[in-house]
Amino acid sequence: MNQKELQRLVEDISINYFHKPFLHQVKINKRMRTTGGRYHLDDHHIEINQHFLAKKYHADLIGIIKHELCHYHLHLAGHGYRHRDADFKILLQRVGGSRYAPDIGLRQKQNKKYFYICKNCKAIYPRVRKLDTKRFVCGKCHGKLVLKEKNEIF
Ligand SMILES: [Zn+2]
Ligand SMILES: [Zn+2]
Repeated sequence: MNQKELQRLVEDISINYFHKPFLHQVKINKRMRTTGGRYHLDDHHIEINQHFLAKKYHADLIGIIKHELCHYHLHLAGHGYRHRDADFKILLQRVGGSRYAPDIGLRQKQNKKYFYICKNCKAIYPRVRKLDTKRFVCGKCHGKLVLKEKNEIF
């Protein structure tokens, strides 16, 4: 999906679910890691994480767009547009927007440096810091943990 198609999709969702036009710009962000989208209070544009433009994430993309449009329409109308506001929670639920960016592993790739795998049940434990494998065992089966290179797992 290119920028033009994304813009069109946001405008369509805005009319169909919010019954109001989206009159600003959608931009594609290639560097976003931990969020699916962002609404900008200053100039009212919406950014969408490029990863979600792939066909297989289409349902997630719709949820993200609805989420950002909740911020957009509530803010422009002078209502509670923040996550903790009741207006936001009610509208988000009504239009079926996503509450959080779906976890597609972007967060882990950024933060976690060490990957331990259970020798017994193969459960994976991504960690920011090194673990003492003499003291820590698998939480599921108490098996022994071994350190793996990230590219051995993903
Ligand atoms: Zn939000
Ligand atoms: Zn295990």
